[in-house]
Amino acid sequence: MIHPTPRLRFAPSPTGSLHIGGARTAMYNWAAARALGGAFLLRIEDTDQARSTEASLQGILDGLRWLGIDWDEGPGRDGGHGPYFQMQRLDLYRAAAERLLASGHAYPCYCTTDRLEALREQQKAAKSSWIGYDGHCRTLAAEQRAEHERRGLRANLRFRMPEAQVVRVHDLIRGEVEVNTRELDDWVMLRPDGVPLYNFACVVDDIGMRITHVVRGEEHFLNGIKQRLLFEALGAECPVYAHIPLILNQQGAKLSKRDPGVMGVLEYRDQGYPPEAVFNYIALLGWGFSGDRDVFTREEMVAAFRIEAVGKAGAKFDPAKLHWMCGEYIRRWPPAECLDRARPWLGTVPAAAFTTHRAWLENSVACFQERIQLLAELAPKLGWLFADPAPDEAARRNLAKDPASRQWLAAWAEALAASDLPPSWPQDRAGVDERVRLPWRKDAPEPACAFATPARIEADCRAFVERLGVKFGSFVHPVRAALTGTDKGPGLFDVVFLLGKDACVRRLRAAAAGV
Ligand code: GLU
Repeated sequence: MIHPTPRLRFAPSPTGSLHIGGARTAMYNWAAARALGGAFLLRIEDTDQARSTEASLQGILDGLRWLGIDWDEGPGRDGGHGPYFQMQRLDLYRAAAERLLASGHAYPCYCTTDRLEALREQQKAAKSSWIGYDGHCRTLAAEQRAEHERRGLRANLRFRMPEAQVVRVHDLIRGEVEVNTRELDDWVMLRPDGVPLYNFACVVDDIGMRITHVVRGEEHFLNGIKQRLLFEALGAECPVYAHIPLILNQQGAKLSKRDPGVMGVLEYRDQGYPPEAVFNYIALLGWGFSGDRDVFTREEMVAAFRIEAVGKAGAKFDPAKLHWMCGEYIRRWPPAECLDRARPWLGTVPAAAFTTHRAWLENSVACFQERIQLLAELAPKLGWLFADPAPDEAARRNLAKDPASRQWLAAWAEALAASDLPPSWPQDRAGVDERVRLPWRKDAPEPACAFATPARIEADCRAFVERLGVKFGSFVHPVRAALTGTDKGPGLFDVVFLLGKDACVRRLRAAAAGV
């Protein structure tokens, strides 16, 4: 037998935003298609017209693009198996329905909504172990049908399930599973208005689009049984199925939109999560790259991905690990890239800093790359570079701890005033920045510079503190508080180097005067 080219699809309904679960399903199909050298399709299941919206559709497309999940066929990319919107395929469903009616695999059902509701209530009241359609119209004689039609009753089309047949399936993730068709009722395929229901449209399209593998959430497992029988009825081969386990919250329950840290994919984008990190984290929800590595690129995932390697157990969503992952990516970027990518969140940084002080700004950003996990966290950390900060709670404590510290601050202000510290923003720092790369590390060689470098600032400071006769640790806390308004941040000598002479002297004097 000639094996067909692998073709996989993601088939979202545009009734809400793209969430983590949907993104994972899309990603696993995408990765499997790429790994198998096949095609990845995007099909829009928009038959729920009351709930489908253009905004949801755009959100899903944008979310997939943002994650780097590209499709070979689908909206905007015709691959000869379209249209890729179900509402544009109604004639295909009608034609398939006619075939199934003719072969007896489908029958019209004239039951009213009232009757179906009453039946349901009855089954519930009787605590019936089985709730579903009772097959009332399954055996209607031709004359009865004709009579219903004459009275203008409109029929749903139902699929005639084989009675008590054991269906054996092999699922790539769940293994061998048996289901008795007794557990499933005759389900509605097509409504009177010609709009298909999910299982029916899905199979007609999987056939028409030559889908070979279906990877989707395990909530569709029983649908897979119904679909398999429909493939048979239509004389088509059923794709290989892989039903992936649920994503769980920290308590082990099904993940919900209300769980902490759960957002739509585009909300992660808007809050400054790097897309590679979100991609990487989602990939790990049920699949592992290797025993000792969690951080990998899209290409590495594609090279390693196998559907069969997806775990059977539900994966736990851990917002802390997602944040950690974001930090891992951010710290690996060159500072210039970090600055460019953080730009949308840096509205509070003066525009000139990006042009006249670009190297200085990159150096400043570099000092924070190991300290942030989201790009949006950068702006509030950079404020002290541009304006004298009001000390926060911790800084105020550090300034108040030792009454003698005011004298040290005043004395160091004068020492710095007489030093060769670099100029302060917005003065011209062009002679400084390119040479000294921050964050400065003690073991890194420091090039000669026309101004004091972090290494020399440290040496001078230590000598100064020794002359004062105070403990170095006691000295640096109030100094940091005076210069940055906080007790956190990059190394103190990076701070002094970045701030430059005028700003350091002004802030130390102000703190010494208790302003
Ligand atoms: N529209 C369905 C869903 O979003 C697709 C399921 C499938 O992949 O067959 O759940």
